[in-house]
Amino acid sequence: MKIKTAEFVVSNQDVDKCPKNHIPEYAFIGRSNVGKSSLINMLTSRKNLAKTSGRPGKTQLINHFIINSNWYLVDLPGYGYARVSKSSKKTFQKFITEYFEQRQQLVCAFVLVDVRHEPQPIDLNFMEWLGEHSIPFCIIFTKADKLKPKAIENHVEAYKQIMLETWEDMPQYFITSSSKGIGQEELLEYIDTINNSLNS
Ligand code: GDP
Repeated sequence: MKIKTAEFVVSNQDVDKCPKNHIPEYAFIGRSNVGKSSLINMLTSRKNLAKTSGRPGKTQLINHFIINSNWYLVDLPGYGYARVSKSSKKTFQKFITEYFEQRQQLVCAFVLVDVRHEPQPIDLNFMEWLGEHSIPFCIIFTKADKLKPKAIENHVEAYKQIMLETWEDMPQYFITSSSKGIGQEELLEYIDTINNSLNS
């Protein structure tokens, strides 16, 4: 898929205020600093579509972007940050869970994890929650340029082993690097294939 257009539509904290039309949407979520903004910019070949974060957790909004006039890319707030107060963390959890529970248009959630790190409980718990709510998701491993190919293989294998303790199969996953442009084609191809299957 070629990205012809990528435009910001709306930001809000209220799932009821998200776009009402039935365009398929794909949500991107992960811990703060995982490289989500960089990945969204890489994916769309735009320098500044999603702002790259100086301060984790600053923007706690559901951000809708429309791509090629036919699908929404949704940038969700990072989770697991330390700098927000308890009460704002609560709001975050509420509107984020409401988003996933209510958004009929959601086709797939992409859960980002840093390929360098051991599997983290917060990510595993979140994926389990998605599973319990029958929300399809994929894993996106980020920052692959920071490891050698063999180390990437080992880290992904370790992730698989942990996932297989809970899941029957390892979910679909992608290995990406925003700084090297790795994974862009595969991800866009994946989204394109789903969009085409929804249209047929
Ligand atoms: P977000 O908080 O998840 O949106 O993360 P950002 O996209 O703002 O990235 C957090 C930090 O990781 C920034 O310093 C980025 O430059 C860096 N980063 C993001 N993606 C990559 C990547 O693919 N490779 C490398 N080496 N650094 C990255």
